[in-house]
Amino acid sequence: MQPANAVLLHACCGPCSIMPVLRLRELGFAPTLYFHNPNIHPLSEYLRRRQGVLDVARRLDAPVLLADSPADGGDPLAAHPRPWLEAMAALGEGMTDMARRCPLCYELRLKPTARFARGLGFARFSTSLLYSRYQNHQAILDAGARHAGPDLAFLGEDFRPWLLDGVRLSKEWGIYRQQYCGCLLGEYDRYKRELDEARAPGTS
Ligand code: SF4
Repeated sequence: MQPANAVLLHACCGPCSIMPVLRLRELGFAPTLYFHNPNIHPLSEYLRRRQGVLDVARRLDAPVLLADSPADGGDPLAAHPRPWLEAMAALGEGMTDMARRCPLCYELRLKPTARFARGLGFARFSTSLLYSRYQNHQAILDAGARHAGPDLAFLGEDFRPWLLDGVRLSKEWGIYRQQYCGCLLGEYDRYKRELDEARAPGTS
């Protein structure tokens, strides 16, 4: 069993985890960070964000659990992109549409987070995804609600008002700050503009 105020907080990366931990503490909760993100590609990027979450946990003296670590009760295959790739393959052409692919991506992360929370006796879970202004807030709330139940509440706290505080602290602390959402499709969307500019008439 966990303390009555314990929360398993799914952590997508270091910078996005800072203010959710601080805000949940302000509200009287005791968050434990949980890194589970098979949507982060390539593995070198996954490792940077994983380390970022560990760095934030150390800074905030917060407990942290890694889904890919057997020592934490996790599974080494949790880092593998296969479940994410399978979900996208099922979408076909729809994978290029964030409105279709991102809700599946939230599901892939929040469903196992809820399962892990139940296994460890947490009564609540939440996610640092609710800190980002780039994510589909309603789809995250929907995914959380789908996996909540009488034994496990989903805290749909809106962490976005603290965005700038999190940016400032992550820079001060030297936490790794990523340049794209996570998956290779997000990375493509992020840099496609540069490709378009590079092949514009008169640039070569
Ligand atoms: S853009 Fe981000 S939220 Fe959407 S599928 Fe890719 S990693 Fe997941």
